[in-house]
Amino acid sequence: MFFDPLYLILVAPALLLGLWANLRVRTTYSRASQMRASLSGAAAARYILDSAGLQDVGLEMTPHELGDHYSPKERVIRLSPDVYRGHSLAAVGIAAHEAGHAIQHAHAYAPLVITQSLVPVAGFGSNFGFLALLFGIGLGLQWLAWAGVILFSALVLFQVVNLPVEFNASSRAKRQLVALGIVPPQEMVYVNKVLNAAALTYVAATLQVVLTLLYYLLLLTGRRD
Ligand SMILES: [Zn+2]
Repeated sequence: MFFDPLYLILVAPALLLGLWANLRVRTTYSRASQMRASLSGAAAARYILDSAGLQDVGLEMTPHELGDHYSPKERVIRLSPDVYRGHSLAAVGIAAHEAGHAIQHAHAYAPLVITQSLVPVAGFGSNFGFLALLFGIGLGLQWLAWAGVILFSALVLFQVVNLPVEFNASSRAKRQLVALGIVPPQEMVYVNKVLNAAALTYVAATLQVVLTLLYYLLLLTGRRD
């Protein structure tokens, strides 16, 4: 089933978009890494958090490359070493994006609240949805196959609602970097390109799960011939 050509044809646009987005992330990131910023990523995040009255949100370095994230559960921003220590436009851009998530959380930004509540079921759905569908079809158990599709839909819903979360965190970051004088407006073009490329990877990932869901529905309703 993994090698079904119909699946490959269906998800091909998402895979190509994902490849292109990853390439954009790499090129825009390396260019913005060469541009010096007045603050390190950690200092920029701290400044944005403090300005938003979030002195109690923690800031840590994670050894994982590309491991930059905000943990709503722990109220901590973790930045990879290059972003934490880096004095570049790339570093302050990514750090500001994570600070944007912390501000969303403090304001109970609705899409973030929804994605947080979907995390457990989306994780379960991505692991067991496909298995349930596979066994359901294999054993001729329609109810099990449909349960698999419904489980997988939780992951799709998570990804779709996560899009405004990511776009909003980046637009908050862009605004704060200029408003607080961390990045001069004429240099924002480099930051914008990095954040827009990162947003495109989320669009590609979302498109991929939507098209995969479509494939599952085609399998189940038997309209493939
Ligand atoms: Zn994000």
